[in-house]
Amino acid sequence: MEQEASASGPQQPACKEEAPSAEPGALDCVICFTPYDRLFRLPKELSCGHIFCLECLARINVSSEDVNALTCPICRAPTAFPSRKGLPGLPTRCDLLEILTAAIRGHVASIWRNMP
Ligand SMILES: [Zn+2]
Ligand SMILES: [Zn+2]
Repeated sequence: MEQEASASGPQQPACKEEAPSAEPGALDCVICFTPYDRLFRLPKELSCGHIFCLECLARINVSSEDVNALTCPICRAPTAFPSRKGLPGLPTRCDLLEILTAAIRGHVASIWRNMP
């Protein structure tokens, strides 16, 4: 009588890839899916709290009838620009840029760590 070696031990589930601490997607503009930066894709906050990059807002603004206001593409709430400042006068979410910079730095660091 032959005995078969059975591997019936509890199998470990495959290791899940660890997600970065920063929420993926939160640092990208939801319109153009491009990460924010400090030049043309400044994260601008509308009065409804939604954030889009400056470039997309400018594109929406160009095609809108009221050049001094913007309709949020997500919730359709109107946002009036600060007088005389226009679109660039909207609050910039510098904290997002900080997170982004830190995330990129962390990503680069992890690449360096995995280098042979
Ligand atoms: Zn955008
Ligand atoms: Zn909105």
